[in-house]
Amino acid sequence: MTIQKKDKKYVWHPFTHQLNAKYPINIIKGKGVYLYDDKGNKYIDAISSWWVNLHGHCNPYISKKVSQQLSELEHSIFSDFTHPWAVTLAERLLGHLPKNQSKIFYSDNGSTAVEVALKMSLQYWSNQDLSKTTFIAFENGYHGDTFGGMSVGARNVFNNAFEKLLFDVKHIPIPTKQNFVEVKNKLTEIIKTNKVAGFIFEPLVQGAAGMKMYEAKYLDELILICNQNKIITIADEVMTGFGRTGKMFACDNLKHKPDVICLSKGLTGGYFPLGVTSCAEFIYNAFLSEDKTKTFFHGHSYTANATACSAALASLDLLEKKETKAQIKMIEKSHIAFVKKLCSHSEERGIYSNRTDPSLPRRQAGFVGMTTDGARVRSKGTIIAFELNTKEHSHYLNNAAETITDFFLKKGIILRPLGNIFYLIPPYIITKKQLNFIYGAIEEFLERVDS
Ligand SMILES: *Cc1c(COP(=O)(O)O)cnc(C)c1O
Repeated sequence: MTIQKKDKKYVWHPFTHQLNAKYPINIIKGKGVYLYDDKGNKYIDAISSWWVNLHGHCNPYISKKVSQQLSELEHSIFSDFTHPWAVTLAERLLGHLPKNQSKIFYSDNGSTAVEVALKMSLQYWSNQDLSKTTFIAFENGYHGDTFGGMSVGARNVFNNAFEKLLFDVKHIPIPTKQNFVEVKNKLTEIIKTNKVAGFIFEPLVQGAAGMKMYEAKYLDELILICNQNKIITIADEVMTGFGRTGKMFACDNLKHKPDVICLSKGLTGGYFPLGVTSCAEFIYNAFLSEDKTKTFFHGHSYTANATACSAALASLDLLEKKETKAQIKMIEKSHIAFVKKLCSHSEERGIYSNRTDPSLPRRQAGFVGMTTDGARVRSKGTIIAFELNTKEHSHYLNNAAETITDFFLKKGIILRPLGNIFYLIPPYIITKKQLNFIYGAIEEFLERVDS
C-alpha cells in the first residue's frame, strides 16, 4: 500500500474535511526554503509550515545542535529538577522580552501557552480572594484549540459544536481610526459592569482571522486603560513573535508593555513543539504564599523538554545574527514594494483595493494599504496579505481556497490561503529571487482571475 493509501486508512488530519479529501502530498525531505515530495517535486514553503519555520528546513546549525543535544539529555522531569538548557533559554528569552517580564513558564504549544496565561491570570485574583473571572478579547481573534483558547477566540464554524461549554468572554472590535472612540467606550463599559480578570489580544496582527492588521498606538491606549483599572494584559505572540512583524516581538512596538506574553510557533525555529508563558514579577509574587493551596498547579509531562529547548537556543543564536536581521529587512522591503504594485492595479485584478479611500495613509509605521475595516492589501514586517474579491463572504469555507492552493502547488509554491485571503509568511532564509518568483506567480494568478 502506498503511504497515501495508508494515510487514508490510519490517519485523521487537523482542520481537514475528511470526506472525499484528496490524497495528501507525501513530503519526504526538507531543505532550506523547500519541501520535497515522493514524486520528485519541490515546493517553496511560503507559509513556513503553518508559521513555525524561521531558518529553513533541516537548518544545518539547528540540526547539529539538536543532534549534539541528543547525546547529552533528551528530556527529564521538570518539577523538583531543572537543566541548563531550560534555564539558559529562560535567561536569554528574558533578555529579549520587555523589561517588565520576569519569569518563564514552559508548556507544549501555543494553545497551552495561552491556557497557562488564562489560568495564571484567574488564579492571580483568586489567590488574593478576589473573584474576577471575565476576560476581554478582540473579535475574530484566535488563541488556540483548547477550551480556554477557544473561549477567548472568535465564535465561528470551528467551535460551533462546543459553544455552550465555552466560558463567557466580552469581545471588542480591533481598533481603527474610525472606530477607536467607540472601542474605548466599549472597553470602559465592560470594565465598569464586569469583574474583569484580563484582556487578551494578538498584538498588531490577528493571524488566523486572516492576517488582519491594526496599529500599535491604539493598542497602547487600550493597554493603558487596562493598567489603570488593574486588569491583566496578555499578549498572545504565538504567531507574531521572533521577528514576524519586523521587530523581535510585536510588543516592541508598544509603549505600554503587557503583563503576560505567550510564545510558541517560531520559538524552536520550527523544530519542536514548545510553549512559553512569561509574566511580570507582580503576578509571580501572588503565588508566593505559606498557604500551599496558592500554588500554580499546572504542568505538562514534557514541560521544558531539553531537546526542544536546545533547538530554541540554536534558533535564538541565528535570530541574533545581523545577517538574519538583514534578511528580515529585505523581506519587509520586498513586501512593501509588492503591496504598492498590487494596490496600483488592484481594481482591474479582482482583489479588494483601498484606492477608493484617498485619506488612508500609504506608508505609516510599516503599514501599507491599510483600510477602514482592518485592511485589504497589507503588509507588516515579513507578513503580506490580501483578499481575493470572491462572491462568497465566508473566509474559512470559501471555495476559492482550493483553486488557489492547486494553482500554486503546480507552480511549486505552498501557499495555503485562509479562505479567500492570500498571505505569505516565509522563512527568513528565503532569497529575493525566490520572493520575486512567488510574487510573479501571484500576479499570474490574478491575471487569470481577470480573464
Ligand atoms: C497558532 C496560534 C495559537 C495556537 O498554537 P498551537 O501551537 O497551534 O496550539 C495560539 N495563538 C495564536 C495567535 C496562534 O497563531
